[in-house]
Amino acid sequence: MHIAVIIYDRCQFKKCNYECRNYCPPVRMGIDTVVITEKGYPRIIEELCEGCGICAHKCPFEAVKIIGLPEEIKEELVHQYGENGFRLYRLPAIQKDKVIGLLGPNGVGKTTTVNILSGTIIPNLGNYEGRVTWDDVVRHFSSTTLGDYFSRIRDGEMKTALKPQYVDKIPRVFKGKVKDLLSKADEKGELDEIASLLEIEKTLERDVDKLSGGELQSVAIGATLLKNADVYFFDEPSSYLDIAQRLKMAKIIKDLSKESIVFVVEHDLAILDFLADVIHILYGSEGAYGIVSQVRATRNAINSYLEGYLREENIRFREWKIEFTEHPPKKRIDLPTLVKWPYIEKSYGDFSLEVHPGEIKIGEVIGVVGPNATGKTTFVKILAGVLKPDKGKVEEEVKVSYKPQYIKPEFDGTVEELLMLTLKERMNSGFFKAEVMHPLNIRHILHKEVKELSGGEMQRLAIALCLGLEADLYLLDEPSAYLDSNQRMIAAKAIRRVMENTGKSALVVDHDVYFIDIISDNIMVFEGKPSVHGIGRGPYDMREGMNLFLKNVGITFRRDKDSRRPRINTPGSYTDREQKRLGEYYYI
Ligand code: ADP
Ligand code: ADP
Ligand code: MG
Repeated sequence: MHIAVIIYDRCQFKKCNYECRNYCPPVRMGIDTVVITEKGYPRIIEELCEGCGICAHKCPFEAVKIIGLPEEIKEELVHQYGENGFRLYRLPAIQKDKVIGLLGPNGVGKTTTVNILSGTIIPNLGNYEGRVTWDDVVRHFSSTTLGDYFSRIRDGEMKTALKPQYVDKIPRVFKGKVKDLLSKADEKGELDEIASLLEIEKTLERDVDKLSGGELQSVAIGATLLKNADVYFFDEPSSYLDIAQRLKMAKIIKDLSKESIVFVVEHDLAILDFLADVIHILYGSEGAYGIVSQVRATRNAINSYLEGYLREENIRFREWKIEFTEHPPKKRIDLPTLVKWPYIEKSYGDFSLEVHPGEIKIGEVIGVVGPNATGKTTFVKILAGVLKPDKGKVEEEVKVSYKPQYIKPEFDGTVEELLMLTLKERMNSGFFKAEVMHPLNIRHILHKEVKELSGGEMQRLAIALCLGLEADLYLLDEPSAYLDSNQRMIAAKAIRRVMENTGKSALVVDHDVYFIDIISDNIMVFEGKPSVHGIGRGPYDMREGMNLFLKNVGITFRRDKDSRRPRINTPGSYTDREQKRLGEYYYI
């Protein structure tokens, strides 16, 4: 069996010669396999398509995909968005008392799966034109546990609550105070408890549109927890949260699973590993199709995911492995200094920051870890000479290129236009194309309107823009947000390669420990009381820095014996206690 998919947001029929139609062998023989719709888009009639794939090869925008799938999967089509649209095959198993994780790259149907199981959309079973009802769905799944599940969804016996993926959109649909938003959601009458659990009491009186990303995420999680539901869904709950907040979120969700069914989509693998009891891997082709694989124990699932290979199904879904090199704690090699600072103090309003003396060397990538609102951005602004410290003077001012944590798509126009306007001729340098544009897959979004980009696409663009500008020091604030685990690894490599090849340096603030582990030569650690007082120290080598940082957070990591990836130890377990006693929070 093969499927013909058109990725409509890549299709540029005004700029091509309908290669998909003109080169199609059946069309040349007079069979209308590819037709042009009134709007101008091509339509591939699947029953007539022979699956040769010439259209896919000829399309200048790579908008067509012809994909061969095993025959037996045909019967397991759950949802299809239109004739040549994305298809989702199979669904996760429903299990009680467990946190069920969904893991997979962007664009293979995780959100679609969540929307179906939460009853937000009725799965059309491939009948994208007809009207499929919940009765049809219940009948279709009647021989499985999903039949019972969907019948209870249909009858309103099964209530669901969903934390949506993009919390940034909440202020657009809700105007008012945090307290009002939470009161509206509060079916359990536990507003005060939940607010205190998530430490958002101080935001209650504030307007939703004045919140930071991390605060918005916490409020969204809070609103979901307050619903009186049987099944809870959390679509990417860790974006914008710092590590301590991620752990707290994970513990709360774990507790919730004791009395409910809980699904979580998450790309921070350290957190997913800690949070999920079992995992379904989703694989497929971005925007074309996705298959929900059978359920696996968490450790096995994450290792398989990194491998790119599902042993039980004998399926390789990625050509390469995501690897963790166990860098033996690097000693800082003797590179020339880019910028050096003495003891620095700076305060504004209610916030004060102190940074201990340190230096950044040429070509280094420094990971920056620490809670939100402890002065990381303030520190970089001081290095850039944008802010004057109250005490201490930075000798050399450096030119900084900055990717902020929250990226607002204000630009009217396409990605290509924005890149041209910002980067000018640098955009066409062979190095930039090969090391930034290509790995970040910017090519596929060049013709999209900036305002219509998804979170992950926007992030990739913002990273490319930051790296494309001429600077001595690159600051990237949470570049992992909305990227899938694989894209995170690719972004980490791109950032590293640019620094190695240009002799520039980067400070990368991130809360994903895997990402920090892969990207950093050395790390700076910030701590303190968010929005009140921050202390910055370092750069340290990885071992010393991670020890200092993880001690603040109170967690220990061990290395997985097969994949060598860092894993969070169960708090209070023997390994956890032993590592704490030895003061080895990270490397063992
Ligand atoms: P994930 O959460 O894994 O990133 P999604 O479930 O959001 O994936 O989407 C999978 C694919 O389905 C997307 O790449 C998109 O092409 C398609 N898709 C999602 N929603 C719609 C929709 N409402 N209409 C048409 N296509 C959609
Ligand atoms: P981080 O980068 O660690 O999240 P920031 O350096 O952005 O932290 O901010 C630290 C604190 O300083 C926050 O509480 C923030 O609200 C406050 N702050 C940032 N910029 C200003 C400013 N221009 N005036 C007053 N307070 C500010
Ligand atoms: Mg999604």
